[in-house]
Amino acid sequence: MKILRLEVPQWEQFDGLVHGFLGRVSGKDRPSNAAFRLSCDDGDDPQAVKQNWCELKLALSLPRISIITARQVHGNTILPVSSETGKLAGIGDGLMTDAPNLCVGVMSADCVPILLVEPTRKIAAAVHAGWRGTAAGIAPRAVASMEEAYGIDPAALHVAMGPSIGSCCYEVGPEVAAQIAANWREELKGAWKPEGVKGRLDLRALNEAQLLGAGIPRSQISKIGPCTACHIGDFYSYRKEGKSGHQLSFIGWRG
Ligand SMILES: [Zn+2]
Repeated sequence: MKILRLEVPQWEQFDGLVHGFLGRVSGKDRPSNAAFRLSCDDGDDPQAVKQNWCELKLALSLPRISIITARQVHGNTILPVSSETGKLAGIGDGLMTDAPNLCVGVMSADCVPILLVEPTRKIAAAVHAGWRGTAAGIAPRAVASMEEAYGIDPAALHVAMGPSIGSCCYEVGPEVAAQIAANWREELKGAWKPEGVKGRLDLRALNEAQLLGAGIPRSQISKIGPCTACHIGDFYSYRKEGKSGHQLSFIGWRG
């Protein structure tokens, strides 16, 4: 099985960090247009999902590292994860940890996967930010949760946003913009282009504006990979394909 894996070039300097933004899965027994599901939340067959996870871990080849995910609901809950946590941390769209040898992960297919890392203290977090989660401020909430739980300084955090739908392909109704503007009017300005009654939303630009507001230095925020809907040969896109697959983004530290 083959999986596209993108890493943040600037993070190569962080010795012991394990991370990746994964893309589409392909292989001899797996046509690239086949569904690759990593959660059962949409009524998927648990056995098939389990099998996908097994294959994924084999392909990633990360011995001694477990990957912890959560049941994602497009909210803004951030779950702390420790070595005691099972494979599923609970219901939430963000996970954070200071434990070695485990990775926190989020699944996405157009939504923005966001990885956060504090390299001195070896803290890591993963966030799933679609428009609802972004409207609920999940990225700044992750920063605040890490600050509160681990006493880190937001200025020491490095953040990367992975492949997700670009404004080129993300037309949404005015009700979406209105819901975001309720709490993020300034942040929305550079991320929203009205077009007739609808408009185009740049989810990564919006999350970046929120992260800057949360105290992350601009030079420590990266955007990795292209628009998922423009590149369905490499990534899953819910908007382009419907319920076809999940790409995993994960991060953690070796102990
Ligand atoms: Zn696009």
